[in-house]
Amino acid sequence: MIHGRVLLLNGSTWEPLDVISIPRAINLVLSGKAIVVEESGRFLRTVHDRFPVPSVIALRYYVNVPRRQAKWSRKGVLMRDNYTCIYCGVRPGDTSRGRVVSKRDFTVDHIIPKSRGGVDGWTNTACACYSCNHRKGNRLPSEAGMKLRWEPKTPRTNYLVIKIGSGPEAWKKYIEF
Ligand SMILES: [Zn+2]
Repeated sequence: MIHGRVLLLNGSTWEPLDVISIPRAINLVLSGKAIVVEESGRFLRTVHDRFPVPSVIALRYYVNVPRRQAKWSRKGVLMRDNYTCIYCGVRPGDTSRGRVVSKRDFTVDHIIPKSRGGVDGWTNTACACYSCNHRKGNRLPSEAGMKLRWEPKTPRTNYLVIKIGSGPEAWKKYIEF
């Protein structure tokens, strides 16, 4: 038994569909329903054979799946924004004021503050460092003289946000938020 997860892409569009187990992924490949897009570099050994363990696979045919609705969450926002401050761009690993920034140094900022009618939603929230969040306070970015470095969007593959979390590096190019 080999542990790990495999990113399943749709046929032709290569949109992420799901995160599945390795045995299920190998079954899809061996039965001809999917092709291997990225290998994990690991091998599954059987008595007679060794089979490269996939990291990303794609269905051979396009399946029509209804786009699942985004479920907003604070953690989802931080992941979507890759723990990068929307105002100053600081990210984990950077050095700020003599110390190394970690994921704990970020919070979810409401672009339109909740006290002024802003909602908990993908397009009204973004990752911000505590100092920018504090500096902005109860104001709109324009009032605080702060610029958004990007426009917060509803993740295209929203339902995967939480599941993927810190997925392998090889998955990143297939996942657009
Ligand atoms: Zn900041």
